Amino acid sequence: MKAMRATAKMAPRRVRARVRGVVQGVGFRPFIHGLAHRHGLDGWVKNDGQGVVIEAEGDGLDGFLADLERLAPPLARIGAVEIEEMAPVGAGGFAILDSVVSGPATLPPADVAPCPDCLRELFEPADRRHLYPFIACTDCGPRYTIADAPPFDRARTAMVDFPLCPDCLAEYRNPADRRFHAQTMACPVCGPKLTMGVDEILARIGRGEIVAVKGLGGFHLVCDARDREAVARLRRRKERGGKPLAVMAANLASAAAFADFDATEAALLSGRERPIVLLRARPGADLSPDIAPALATIGVMLPYTPLHYLLFHQAAGRPAGVDWLDRPQSLVLVMTSANRSGEPLVIDEAGIGRLDGIVDAVAGNDRAIRQRADDSVTRMIAGAPRFIRRGRGFVPDPIRLARPVPTVLAVGGHLKSTLCITRGDEAFVSAHIGDLDNAATYGALVDEAARLLDRLGVTPDRVAHDLHPDFLSTRYAQSLGAPAIAVQHHHAHVAAALAEHGVEAPALGLALDGYGMGPGGESWGGEMLRVDGAAFRRLGHLAPLPQPGGEAAARQPWRLGVAVCHGLGMGGCSIARLFPGRDVAAILALLEAGHVPISTACGRLFDAASALLGIALEARYEGEAPMRLESLVTRPRVLDDGWRLSDDLVLDPSPLLAALIGRDAADGADLFHGTLIAALTDWVTAAAAREGLDHVALTGGCLLNRVLAEGLAHNLAERGLTPLLPGAVPPGDGGLSLGQAWVAALSTL
Ligand code: ZN
Ligand code: ZN
Ligand code: FE
Repeated sequence: MKAMRATAKMAPRRVRARVRGVVQGVGFRPFIHGLAHRHGLDGWVKNDGQGVVIEAEGDGLDGFLADLERLAPPLARIGAVEIEEMAPVGAGGFAILDSVVSGPATLPPADVAPCPDCLRELFEPADRRHLYPFIACTDCGPRYTIADAPPFDRARTAMVDFPLCPDCLAEYRNPADRRFHAQTMACPVCGPKLTMGVDEILARIGRGEIVAVKGLGGFHLVCDARDREAVARLRRRKERGGKPLAVMAANLASAAAFADFDATEAALLSGRERPIVLLRARPGADLSPDIAPALATIGVMLPYTPLHYLLFHQAAGRPAGVDWLDRPQSLVLVMTSANRSGEPLVIDEAGIGRLDGIVDAVAGNDRAIRQRADDSVTRMIAGAPRFIRRGRGFVPDPIRLARPVPTVLAVGGHLKSTLCITRGDEAFVSAHIGDLDNAATYGALVDEAARLLDRLGVTPDRVAHDLHPDFLSTRYAQSLGAPAIAVQHHHAHVAAALAEHGVEAPALGLALDGYGMGPGGESWGGEMLRVDGAAFRRLGHLAPLPQPGGEAAARQPWRLGVAVCHGLGMGGCSIARLFPGRDVAAILALLEAGHVPISTACGRLFDAASALLGIALEARYEGEAPMRLESLVTRPRVLDDGWRLSDDLVLDPSPLLAALIGRDAADGADLFHGTLIAALTDWVTAAAAREGLDHVALTGGCLLNRVLAEGLAHNLAERGLTPLLPGAVPPGDGGLSLGQAWVAALSTL
C-alpha cells in the first residue's frame, strides 16, 4: 500500500509545517496524530519552544493542511502556519516525538474550567475518576498556574510529581482515548490528593468556619455566604473594610436567586475562563448584607475546579449523574483571595502561616502552584466584557500589537500593578500583582518580572515606568540597566487602549482617572490628550479641585465636599451642617491659608459629589464613594448649564456640584451622572473638531462606571466619533503596563 503510493502519478511530497499560537497543552499533537492517520500520512509531530512542528509526507497532504486549521481542538488558537517543502524520506508511520527545548518559548494556555466530559465522569459512580478532585483532560484543567518553563509537557509542570499509573499510561498512549497525550491527566491512584476531605470542608463551612481552600492560582478564604456571622468575622479578620467580597454559586439557576443577569452576562459567567462577573444584586435576596455593603452590584462566579463542583455536590446530597448541575442549589459560598490585607495571594502551605488568625482550617493539596493568579474580575460594559482585574483564565494570553516592536519590560504604576513584556508583535501582561505599598507585593513584582522574562526567553531592549520618581516600580525599572523611558500616567492609560485597538494614527484620549503625576509634578486625572505615536499633548483638563490634606482627601471625601462649598462662597456654619461630626473648621483654615494642593483627577470629582450628597463621607477602600454613587443611579438626567467649557478646553462642572448640595441622594446621583456625561460629550466633541480627529480612547479607572462609560460611548458614536474602550486589559491602573510598553516601543532612544 505504501509502496503503491510512492509510485503514484504525483511526485511524492513532504512538508515541514511550523504552527504558532496557542498550540501546546491543548491536545494539539494528538489531534495532528489522528489527522495524519486519517489522511494516510507518514511523519512526525513535536512541540518546541516556538509551538508545534510537523513533518508530513503522502498524497493526502492538501486535505491534511486544510483540516489542520478547520478542525483544530477547541482550546487551540492558531496564530500562523508556515510551510516548507522537504525532500521525501518515505514511509515509516506517524509519531509524536519528544519536545525540544530551544529558542523563544511559547507560553501555555490559560487555565480552563472542567469540561462537560470530565464532569460526566466526575459524577458517574462507575467511572474510575468518580469524585476525583483533580480530574482533567486534553480539553480542560490547570495549565498556566502549574507550568514551569515551556514547552508544556508534564515533566515541566507541577504534575511531574505524579508519575502516571498503568491505567493512566494506557489512556495517555491510546490514540483513541480522549486523554491521549493529555499532559495534566491523573487519577485517584497516581494523582494529587486533598489534605482534607470534601465532607469535612463542607461540614466546617456549615459550622460557620472560615476555610482556606487551595485553588488553581492561589488559596481562597471560603465561608457560607448566608452565614452573617461568618461573613462578618471574615471581613473583620481580613481587615477588609467595606470592600465587596465575591461569591460562588453552583450554576446560573442558583445565581439567579440573588443576582440579575442577561444572556451576555450568563455567557461570560459560564465561559471556560470563569471570571468573577459584576452583576446587579437582586433586592431582598437572603445572602449576608455584609457581602457588598451599600452597593447595587455583586461579584459572582461559577465553579472552576472539580473541587468546587464537589463542594456543591456534597451540599446537594451527593446525587449520581449530572442532572443536578442544572438545578438551583441553595449553597452559596463567599470566595475571596487568601491574603492579608494588601499582601500577595497565598499560593503555598508555607505562605499559609501569613493567614494565622484569619482562617480556622486549611484544605490544601499536594499539587504545587507554580504561578500565582488571582481570579479575574469583569463587568459587561457597552456590549463587551471589561476587566476590573485580569488574572486566572486570561493570563498569559498575549495581546496582539499592530506590528513587531522592540522588546520592552514595562513595570506599571503603584496601584493594581501588572507587568507587560513585548515580544515581536505580542504583548504579555502579567496577572494582577497588587498595590506596591508593602515589601511582599514589591517582591512579587520583581519575581514575576524575572519569571516572565525567563519563560518568554527575552531580555528587554528598554524598560518603561511611570513618570513618578518615587514609585517602587520606577526605582526597580531604573535599576535594571536597560535604557529607561518614563511614561506619563494618563498617556499610558490612553496608549493602552490605542495599542489594543491597533490605532497608530493620532487620536484623542480622554483619561478619567485617579491620581497620576503630570510632567511638572502636578496631580492629574481628568485629562484630554492628543496622542501621536510616542508623543502626547495635553489639550485640556477638568477644572482642578482643592484637595485639603492631599492624599487624606482621597480617603475622606468630605474634605473635598468642604472645599467645593468653600469655593462656592458658602458660610462656615452651613458647611458644617452638611458634614456633621467632621472637623470642618480645620479644613476651612487650610483653605483660607491657601496651603491646599489641587488635582484635576476625575475620581476626586466623584468623591466630591458623593460627599455633597451625603452618600460617602469616608471611603473605606479605593473607589468606594464612586461605586456607591453609581449604585444609586436609576435614570440619569441632564442639568442644563451644569458645566462651563472654556476656549482652552478646561471643563468646569462646578454649577453641577453646586446643584447637588442639599439634594436627595438618588436624585443627585441621576443628575450627576447625566450631566457629567453630557458635559464630557460636549468637551470631547469640541476637542475632536478642533484637532480634526475622530478616534477617542476612553480610559482611566472611572470608565469602570457602567453608566458613565455606556452613556459617553453612546453619545460620541452618535456624533460620528469612534469611541475606543479597553477590553484586553483593565481601563484602570492594571492596564498601565501595556500602555507604557507601547509608548516605550514607539519611542526613539
Ligand atoms: Zn475535561
Ligand atoms: Zn492514574
Ligand atoms: Fe490611573
